[in-house]
Amino acid sequence: MKKPIIIIAVVVLSVAAVVAFIAVRHAINAPFVASRQPCINNLRQIDGAKQQWALEYQKSSSDVPTWNDVLPLLGRGLLQTNLPICPNGGTYILGRVDEEPRCSLGHTNIDGTLHAL
Ligand SMILES: [Zn+2]
Repeated sequence: MKKPIIIIAVVVLSVAAVVAFIAVRHAINAPFVASRQPCINNLRQIDGAKQQWALEYQKSSSDVPTWNDVLPLLGRGLLQTNLPICPNGGTYILGRVDEEPRCSLGHTNIDGTLHAL
């Protein structure tokens, strides 16, 4: 009868360890996930404004807009007089019309999160 008790104890401890691991990991990642999403939202709005600029001014795919071109076309979620701000301190790179705008943190952000479309 001793063996089943030991097996049950090992299973219970294993489950508890997995639950604790997930909880700690979630607690560590939560602030970064929360700050990543606004960055991606900013990138989406910047991309939309770039496409609108290209359409309105009949630009080619290799043209590169400036912030002065794009800022008036940004949505209401961003202040139209200020550059959009990455919540983790990255800076945005507009790029060519046929490229996605990028956050300088991109794929190499120190916390491992993705700041890219
Ligand atoms: Zn970012």
